[in-house]
Amino acid sequence: MRKYEDSYQHKGLRKQLINVLKDKGITDENVLAAINTIPRHYFLDSAFDKIAYEDRAFPISEGQTISQPYTVAYQTQLLQIKKSDKVLEIGTGSVYQSTILAEMGAWVYTIERQKKLYEAHKQFYFRSKYPNIKFFYGDGFEGLPTFAPFDKVIITAAAPFIPPKLIEQLKPNGLMVIPVDEGDNQRMHRITKLPDGSLKEEQFDLFSFVPMLTGKNG
Ligand code: SAH
Repeated sequence: MRKYEDSYQHKGLRKQLINVLKDKGITDENVLAAINTIPRHYFLDSAFDKIAYEDRAFPISEGQTISQPYTVAYQTQLLQIKKSDKVLEIGTGSVYQSTILAEMGAWVYTIERQKKLYEAHKQFYFRSKYPNIKFFYGDGFEGLPTFAPFDKVIITAAAPFIPPKLIEQLKPNGLMVIPVDEGDNQRMHRITKLPDGSLKEEQFDLFSFVPMLTGKNG
């Protein structure tokens, strides 16, 4: 059995990570507080225990990754999360991003296309602490029409284009944060669905994500 322990050393490393994120331009205090609260090393293989608070992505199973803390902070800050926001996340992966959103008081609906990762979520350590995370196995391009509309949509894989069905599932004044393909990197976009249904598009920095793929796997 994996031992989960959040030691003083881990807490200290987390504080240092918060300073790194501030230096890189993250200012949303609620985002920083959530990252400071959630033990990132619980989401990684215990082999990564000592380096879990370095600001970098790490491999999880099925050839996927846990996003870099800066990327998680950046996307979450752009989402302008408010308590009780209903958020659709594409790409559950390690559940780290979902947990940050849940800690900030959002209702999180998260979709994963890899069956093995989805199955592993049943053992998610914080399942009882965060009943506001709902897990789904499916293709993120389809979204979750049954649970729509959402206040916010976050895509945590490199999208080849902005999926039209996910735009449909946004509320008026809703926000989508999505890294869109540009060769080896992706440009972070924020889409606002205006009350008349038209879209406002803003562009931000370049990032590097694993690809958003069509269909389910497994
Ligand atoms: N948010 C995650 C990041 C995981 S990496 C975290 O905090 O750890 C991106 C994830 O998106 C991978 O697990 C990948 O399998 C998943 N993914 C890729 N395309 C998808 C799709 N169409 N629907 C759902 N999940 C997808």
